[in-house]
Amino acid sequence: MRPKQIKIVDKDKLSLTWNDETSTIFSLKYLRDECPCAGCKGETILFKTFRPPKPTMLSPEMYKIKSIDVVGEYAIQIAWKDGHNTGIYSWEYIKTLEAGVNNNTQQKYDTLI
Ligand SMILES: [Zn+2]
Repeated sequence: MRPKQIKIVDKDKLSLTWNDETSTIFSLKYLRDECPCAGCKGETILFKTFRPPKPTMLSPEMYKIKSIDVVGEYAIQIAWKDGHNTGIYSWEYIKTLEAGVNNNTQQKYDTLI
């Protein structure tokens, strides 16, 4: 499963349309808060997860996307307007996030073409 279209909708949401015609929509805030890079999510070393402290200075720019690059066939790399660009979101990770955002309510979104 991979997205055939990725686009920003309503200025603050990211919509992914998958090749089976289902789609996933995330708020950019959620995506940024769940940034999978080591700087945001911490690193797991010897089974212990080290999480960095949350930044205390929050900038509205951190929730705006500057650019999205497709990484190989498996992920997207999102560059945020505050300069953060080390988060690589694999399709697998996005699906994990989707499970979290839906909160098991089996919410269905209309397919956006
Ligand atoms: Zn990050």
